[in-house]
Amino acid sequence: MCDDKVVDLEKTTDDKLRLVLENALNNGLKTELEPRAYDHKQVLDIVSRLQTLAKEDYNKKLVFAGFTTTPYNSSADVDDEQACETCMYYLVHRCFCELPELMLPVKEDWSCRLWRI
Ligand code: SF4
Repeated sequence: MCDDKVVDLEKTTDDKLRLVLENALNNGLKTELEPRAYDHKQVLDIVSRLQTLAKEDYNKKLVFAGFTTTPYNSSADVDDEQACETCMYYLVHRCFCELPELMLPVKEDWSCRLWRI
């Protein structure tokens, strides 16, 4: 759960942008779910594309990183579930992705193909 103690201004800004991102995802924005970034080359390919984007090009960040508003799981095994809350880049108290090429407010049950444990 996001922490209310996070500085108010930062929280408000994050909350507003999170809503914008969520609306884009829920209103038909097609993101690149696959291929997932399971090896170094795949990670580099996605990261280098993200690095070409302006900081506020949010829709393209969502598209290139393959965001979803539900955990990604390509198998029936719940242990294979990829969600922001289990990703090394997720800041729990801020509900924020600190991957340098993203730096976006997210939700714990969102996901992207740069997920790392
Ligand atoms: S890198 Fe991790 S925390 Fe960031 S959006 Fe992707 S899955 Fe979520």
